[in-house]
Amino acid sequence: MPDPTHNPALQSWVLDANNHPEFPIQNLPLGIFAPRNGAPRAGIAIGNHILDLPACHTNNLLTHFPAGATLNDFLALGAGPRTTLRMEVSLLLARGNAAESLAKTLLHETAACTLHLPAAIGDYTDFYAGIHHALTVGKLFRPDAPLLPNYKFVPIGYHGRASSVAVSGTPFRRPNGQRKQADQPEPDFGPCRNLDFELEFGIWIGPGNNPGDPIPISNAAAHIAGFCLLNDWSARDIQAWEYQPLGPFLAKSFATTISPWIVTPEALAPFRIAQPPRPEGDPRPLPYLWDDADQRAGAFNIALEAYLLTPTMRENGTPPLRLALSNTAHAYWTVAQMVTHHTSNGCDLRAGDLFGSGTISAPTQTGYGSLLELTDNGRKPITLPNGEARRFLENGDEIIFRAHAEADGAVPIGFGECRARLLE
Ligand code: CA
Repeated sequence: MPDPTHNPALQSWVLDANNHPEFPIQNLPLGIFAPRNGAPRAGIAIGNHILDLPACHTNNLLTHFPAGATLNDFLALGAGPRTTLRMEVSLLLARGNAAESLAKTLLHETAACTLHLPAAIGDYTDFYAGIHHALTVGKLFRPDAPLLPNYKFVPIGYHGRASSVAVSGTPFRRPNGQRKQADQPEPDFGPCRNLDFELEFGIWIGPGNNPGDPIPISNAAAHIAGFCLLNDWSARDIQAWEYQPLGPFLAKSFATTISPWIVTPEALAPFRIAQPPRPEGDPRPLPYLWDDADQRAGAFNIALEAYLLTPTMRENGTPPLRLALSNTAHAYWTVAQMVTHHTSNGCDLRAGDLFGSGTISAPTQTGYGSLLELTDNGRKPITLPNGEARRFLENGDEIIFRAHAEADGAVPIGFGECRARLLE
């Protein structure tokens, strides 16, 4: 439920936060940053600045604050301390607060800071909840049966690789792997030829559960600490050859990029919507995945965008080109259903675990969240306004994700960027 921290009239004495497209005072996302020549620590983004949380505590401005160089311990505490911190920081940064002159000395310009992964990620799981992506990709390979029979019953996922999840801005190398084209009798080994992006949102786990102790759907939201943007870079040619029978392996594990800020469930409260009803004829989820309250308000209205910036565009000062506009509402499963399904066998989650939603595409071309969909698996290259063409990504290309939540009567908030450049 919206509270005083969401008040649209609320303004900050941090002047660049007012009308900021990403980080107005109504957002207050958590992250880990290092000022120039300083150690990593917890902070909250406000406009073009970051508030140093441990320093606020030292100066008696906050009672609840995340200590340490990761947020894992704080995320594990759940919604109570997170909400208290949000209330305290909202008051502290609001126009008219008596501590403004002291707090001003505890702000850092974001442009002068290094942003780190917000948590040590113990485990990373990638779901496949974007039904339009599943349908469009399924049609490419199985025109008669694009969705496999389990899709509408099981929140499909696989265990990803946590070690190669990197924060926005970290470039990565083009992976090598086994490639086998249809006319090749045997595979060869070399650089991936079909390197792709996947437009996803990320889900941060807060309090975990004990092994053997599933999280019921009615309590799943209490285990979610926040959200980010996530690019599940994918080597399509390697994937096509390796994925049967056990699923993705080296085609996905070389790099995953996430945005640095944890946008909390509290910040997103005004942007909750009902889970869109399933199309007529689809099965109702099994009882362990069904909760009336989750269906009423378990989805979000968050616009997701993917942009491309090629080396030529960069050299010419051309702004990034939008490839896709989608929305988190296109997920077939709610985040609570993902948490409950993941733990339904007794699997334990831990604070700082990360889920990917799966590629969230819209039903039509303007919202396709991968080049696999946009170029029909490379068969129909897209032409850029400057005359360049792309089947898949070329060296030096950069993919940038952005996300914004809007609702009537609420100040819009953003997620910050999730971007990375492909190296040779
Ligand atoms: Ca994926």
